[in-house]
Amino acid sequence: MHSLHTDSRGPLPLFIAGERRLGRGDDAESLYPATGEVVARLRTASVDDVDEAIRAADHAFRTSTWARRKPHERAAVLYRIAQLIRERAEPLAQRQREDNGKPISETRALVASAAGTFQFFASACETMEEALTPSRGDYFTMSVHEPMGVVAAITPWNSPIASEAQKLAPALAAGCAVVIKPAEATPLMALELAALCEQAGVPPGMVSVLAGRGSVIGDAITRHPLVRRVSFTGGTATGKHIARIAADKMMPVSMELGGKSATMVLDDADLDHAINGVLYGIFSSSGESCIAGSRLFVARSRYAEFMDRLAAKAAALRVGDPCDERTQMGPLITPRHRESIERHVAVGLAEGGTLRIGGRRPEGALYERGNYYLPTIIEGLDNRATISREEIFGPVLVAMPFDDWDDLVAQANDSVYALAAGIWTGDYRKAWALGRAVQAGTVWINTYKQFSIATPFGGWRDSGLGREKGRLGIQQYMEQKSLYWGLNPHPLAWAD
Ligand code: NAP
Repeated sequence: MHSLHTDSRGPLPLFIAGERRLGRGDDAESLYPATGEVVARLRTASVDDVDEAIRAADHAFRTSTWARRKPHERAAVLYRIAQLIRERAEPLAQRQREDNGKPISETRALVASAAGTFQFFASACETMEEALTPSRGDYFTMSVHEPMGVVAAITPWNSPIASEAQKLAPALAAGCAVVIKPAEATPLMALELAALCEQAGVPPGMVSVLAGRGSVIGDAITRHPLVRRVSFTGGTATGKHIARIAADKMMPVSMELGGKSATMVLDDADLDHAINGVLYGIFSSSGESCIAGSRLFVARSRYAEFMDRLAAKAAALRVGDPCDERTQMGPLITPRHRESIERHVAVGLAEGGTLRIGGRRPEGALYERGNYYLPTIIEGLDNRATISREEIFGPVLVAMPFDDWDDLVAQANDSVYALAAGIWTGDYRKAWALGRAVQAGTVWINTYKQFSIATPFGGWRDSGLGREKGRLGIQQYMEQKSLYWGLNPHPLAWAD
């Protein structure tokens, strides 16, 4: 088995100014959500470390060969990173499980997706084309892209290796230097990725990892004058705060934010498919997923039957030890996060909701030390209830019947969020019409929560700004430049 960069008893070093060294900030710990045990200790970055790392990153960007290498040369290094991730897939998946408590089956998939992300952006990098634009004079014109310089990736705790790879790979492909600020609760995968980048031949200083508190370190990174772009994934309130700072710097940002996605089951849906899809959509990752299908609308004529079957299957989901390959739901990230879910459920019940299943912590020795919470379904509320409007980010489904098409479309779109939606129907014409009418960055039809790195992803309204993934994901980290090449054999006539 390959050892990992984060296997260490002492405090872990960060990646600052091209070196592995301890931060000069506070001590911090990564805790295993299933038991509360310490997985790793860290010395976080200080504000001085942030400044030093970003200046060094800028220096590395300007002086190392990375940005000037030919795209196929950068691509070769990115392919190598994908290969290194695959070689260490199992230890990385185990480390990710410890860092954020997701079931091992899921962390294995996240690691595989991170490798796929590097592979995809390697190929996108070496096949990216620039445009020759139609000439309108005695010149020819072209449009090219240049790397922005130092860019920042600020990430949440729910799928660290995947969300960090999704920013790091295209930014490196673009030729940028990248500063990663992982979530306080889950710093380990960013350190692993930085170590693999180093091993694969990314020059020192091009990848920094500045773990630390978001309100201090994340803020200092965002405000730093040498940071040219922030790619942020996290909560909407934090995203808006970063966007305000960015406005003052005239700095582009991309924002992957929260969601309150609607899943819609029409009267002609195949219920076996719909039930499994709805369960996966809300309860996988214990609902700690931006795209969780947390609002369920079911045609009134099928509502009773659907809910009986859904609730029976949800109650039988295997909640437990993340090491167990059969586990479907692991613990929540922190005790505090579980309390916030409990508060949401209490509000739902106080507003007149009724519990169909769950609404409490599981009991038994296995669950005593972990942040576990049962799959929960609440009925009897409408789309205006607090828990129909606010993102809960946990295993809580609000289920509602709908009466007709207009009612469904109006309710599905009545949310500040517009990240994703799911449609279950046997009629492709209805799926098409609803798929176009629903306002969301991603719509799944007769499936849910499937992902392809080749397909752009992002949200509308409070769910975000910009798109990640897809071939053009690289260009987020580049500025566009137009070149005019004069072809006139005579001097410009105006000056004569
Ligand atoms: P969060 O509190 O907004 O934190 C996200 C990241 O921002 C963390 O690294 C955090 O650091 C940092 N941060 C906090 N305050 C900051 C500030 N003032 N300046 C700069 N950075 C700051 O979100 P979370 O609770 O970790 O994640 C859950 C949220 O992420 C949910 O709303 C979920 O929907 C969203 N999410 C969206 C997507 C998507 O693709 N749309 C994907 C995954 C998650 P600390 O950890 O140190 O606070």
